[in-house]
Amino acid sequence: MSASTSSTPIWDDVVAERAARGPLNPDCAQGKHKACAGDAWDLETDEPARCACPCHADDQAAAIAEEEAA
Ligand SMILES: [Zn+2]
Ligand SMILES: [Zn+2]
Repeated sequence: MSASTSSTPIWDDVVAERAARGPLNPDCAQGKHKACAGDAWDLETDEPARCACPCHADDQAAAIAEEEAA
């Protein structure tokens, strides 16, 4: 096995991957993570839900902050 390919997923891929697992606030879906209040709508259960975007995790939020500051 050759593990020479070190491709780090870009943020959009992370968001897309998480969006496939749970409801995503439209703001986060458009990359406006600061505008997202952390809520979303679960279309499957037709109930309010938490936004599944990884930006709401503390470590990821810090990563975004660093990225935006750069
Ligand atoms: Zn987000
Ligand atoms: Zn969100």
